[in-house]
Amino acid sequence: MAGPNLTLVQGDITEQDVDAVVNAANSSLLGGGGVDGAIHRKGGSDILAECRRLRASHYGKGLPTGQAVATTAGRLPARWVIHTVGPVWGREEDRSELLASCHRESLRAARELGARTVAFPAISTGVYRWPLEDAARIAVTTLREEGEGFAELRFVLFDKRAYDTFSAAL
Ligand code: ADP
Repeated sequence: MAGPNLTLVQGDITEQDVDAVVNAANSSLLGGGGVDGAIHRKGGSDILAECRRLRASHYGKGLPTGQAVATTAGRLPARWVIHTVGPVWGREEDRSELLASCHRESLRAARELGARTVAFPAISTGVYRWPLEDAARIAVTTLREEGEGFAELRFVLFDKRAYDTFSAAL
């Protein structure tokens, strides 16, 4: 069996022409640095406005780690942003499960939207310090096991080192 169509590019997730892009958000849903900052900066204020509404209606205590929720993509080429909160790096088994959960829950949100193509950044590998090799293994394994039915699941890696690491994991 061929399995899901996983692809890989080096680039900027805000420029991807896909149905949905995944954001490595923080639990406040109010923006941050890294991928999150880039998405809000380029996508414009509609994304933040919807995040604020979601906070008010569902996530007063923040979006829990490992969960995912979708908003408009504002002015980005994508139609939707799927915000997920990665775990901060830690060796405990349940931390790895939370990183897998981010990928799984993002796929679930994408399916609910009817997205056919989805772009993922290297969740938790920036400010949250997850080692690239381990994050790549978890991301690739989870999308491979749970990504059936999409036209394309694309990893978007910002720099060469991340690209090479994900390429090796694939
Ligand atoms: P986290 O808080 O989950 O660690 P970060 O946004 O700090 O999230 O980093 C996650 C990964 O995204 C890092 O590998 C970082 O280099 C990468 N990154 C930062 N900006 C972008 C971007 N515009 N497009 C794709 N990847 C990005």
